[in-house]
Amino acid sequence: MTERATFFDTKIEFLKGVGPQRAATLNKELNIFTYGDLIQYYPFRHEDRTKFHTIAELSELLPAAQVRGRLRDWSILGEGPKRRLVATFTDHTGTMDLVWFHGISYYEKSLRPGGEYIAYGKPLYFSGTYSITHPELDVLTPENEQGGMLVPVYNLTEKMRRTHFESKAIAKVMRQLLDIARPYIHETLPDALIQKFRLIPKAAALEYIHLPPSPAWLHQAQRRLKFEELFYNQLRLIKNKLLHKVEYPGQVFRSTTLLNRFYQDHLPFDLTGAQKRVVKEIYADVTTGKHMNRLLQGDVGSGKTIVAFITMLMAIDNGAQACIMAPTEILAEQHYQGLKVFADALGIHIDILTGSTNNKRRKVIHEELENGKLNIIVGTHALLEDKVQFQNLGLCIIDEQHRFGVAQRAKMWAKNTDIPPHILVMTATPIPRTLAMTLYGNLDLSIIDELPAGRKPIKTVHRYDTHRSEVFGFMRQQIELGRQIYVVYPLIEESEKLDFKDLMDGYESMSRAFPLPKYKLGILHGRMLPYEKDDEMTRFKKGETQIMVATTVIEVGVNVPNASVMVIESAERFGLAQLHQLRGRVGRGAEQSYCVLMTGYKLSKETRIRIETMVKTNNGFEIADVDLQLRGPGDLSGTQQSGIADLHIADLAKDGAILTAARESAQAILEEDPDLILPQNAPIRHQVEAQRQGETNWSRIS
Ligand code: ADP
Ligand code: MG
Repeated sequence: MTERATFFDTKIEFLKGVGPQRAATLNKELNIFTYGDLIQYYPFRHEDRTKFHTIAELSELLPAAQVRGRLRDWSILGEGPKRRLVATFTDHTGTMDLVWFHGISYYEKSLRPGGEYIAYGKPLYFSGTYSITHPELDVLTPENEQGGMLVPVYNLTEKMRRTHFESKAIAKVMRQLLDIARPYIHETLPDALIQKFRLIPKAAALEYIHLPPSPAWLHQAQRRLKFEELFYNQLRLIKNKLLHKVEYPGQVFRSTTLLNRFYQDHLPFDLTGAQKRVVKEIYADVTTGKHMNRLLQGDVGSGKTIVAFITMLMAIDNGAQACIMAPTEILAEQHYQGLKVFADALGIHIDILTGSTNNKRRKVIHEELENGKLNIIVGTHALLEDKVQFQNLGLCIIDEQHRFGVAQRAKMWAKNTDIPPHILVMTATPIPRTLAMTLYGNLDLSIIDELPAGRKPIKTVHRYDTHRSEVFGFMRQQIELGRQIYVVYPLIEESEKLDFKDLMDGYESMSRAFPLPKYKLGILHGRMLPYEKDDEMTRFKKGETQIMVATTVIEVGVNVPNASVMVIESAERFGLAQLHQLRGRVGRGAEQSYCVLMTGYKLSKETRIRIETMVKTNNGFEIADVDLQLRGPGDLSGTQQSGIADLHIADLAKDGAILTAARESAQAILEEDPDLILPQNAPIRHQVEAQRQGETNWSRIS
């Protein structure tokens, strides 16, 4: 073990100022066991103590003030919960109060009357006097009397607060540690990167992240540490991906007979530039002999289905079968209908397998998959069953990825014994590129970032519930023009009953506003049987109903080009991603489409941002970025298994630029030096080694 590792492995009770009791608290409350743990316990913000205020300068407008003064006397006032310690604090300009509700006996004992202190906190004005409640109080010393400090604020637990183990105390031991740690802090990034991105050295960064001499240095320290963190995060992901490529072979799909025929005779429209690019990326993958593991992102309506079909042709052209798995029966059915038209034109065998396929059909399908008669199977989770076996599954497409977990993907892998099927995961939930790189570092990424030509952008408006009659008027006008309309109600699992009532009430009032025989309404919700849902969808598709009142079951993938109006009820109850998904159900035909977001008057600030974002833009990636800003990456679906929690200091919502730089650097270095043996990459090799050891060595032994 290196000297460095030994130093950072030292238990914190050996640090000056940390006795066994404090060490026990740090162990238990903050999971800090070693010097290494402590030095990486970064403050979450800093208080600006660079300025002092005089008492005469205090104002309630100040978020916080720092006052130098003398403590006069104190008394205990009030009873019960109002019982408090009030001390008089003076400087040459006036007098103020310092107030404590908690820890009264502790402060009574420790305060020195007549002593000089620095008090810090939020000033409040009450009956002629300024006061600070629970100020931070420091004895005035020659070191702190000039101010000029940014004071770190560390996360503490309730228990620590109760025992007066405060941020200040951590800052103090941190100072101790930084003083002795300096010789053991080695540079962890190669010189070239430090130069290129003008990063400060590691030792300086660790010091300034805790105790910065100025805001500018704090910023430099953060930038350096974020870069380093993201660099090693990406290095690991890219390395894993390279490993994966080497380890897993893939079938080679070189022949393109059917593919060519489809292109020449059956392509229903010209592919967009983005679709062509993605098809090329996929073709490049499946001809290498390595296993494809690719994520295809494309906004709703960008035309992923045809890309999926073309990819299937690559498999079929080379004697393999293809499957496509969708999260709902409606969606599977729709894929089936769409793909069947193409398949029939080419004489390809396709079928569908879902939970509601009857036993007789099921048996036939199982057989035809095993004997190779079926070329394409469309389905839901039913495809995952062990009974479903293939003659030679060469490609598995998974639609709407966020509803399927990693485990399910793995299950599809195992369907082919010798060579795993190529995997194409399609999602319409645009994940910001920065996040996708981190979450799906082991998937290659293709993006359809262009909508088919001639699409008119959807017009989105926000209307309050009180303006419902206007909205109804608009709906009638659109139906007059021959259009069809979705009206969607929220369905949130926790209150399914209430939501169901909302939906039914809505359906009734809608039936009154749009009476028979002139208007026909359909209804779609999760409690209906599959065949009932199918019937409703079919009637709507054929134009026999004009308004489809539904819950979010229509969220995913449903495609009725003549439906051009989407009314979303209680829009405040939907997340941004979901609103965008729902809106994507319209705007699929040649007509101008509309989305109406209905809400009550009372909206939180966040909800307003969501609604405004929807009104302002149709761009799924922009929306995803706002979503990420509002919610943070931890909340996005599918991030649980990502290991994203490893990030200490970088913030994926904000540090996209640093992430990109870090990823590109990691990529370039690994391309040139996959085993990290070049002398200039020695710091990386050491760091990777140290991290690997760290997993076992900086262990949590108490
Ligand atoms: P999504 O990416 O949401 O799955 P779809 O594949 O369902 O999108 O395509 C949406 C609609 O756009 C479909 O009606 C499809 O036929 C049509 N479409 C797809 N690609 C093109 C294109 N290049 N030109 C014109 N229309 C297209
Ligand atoms: Mg789709």
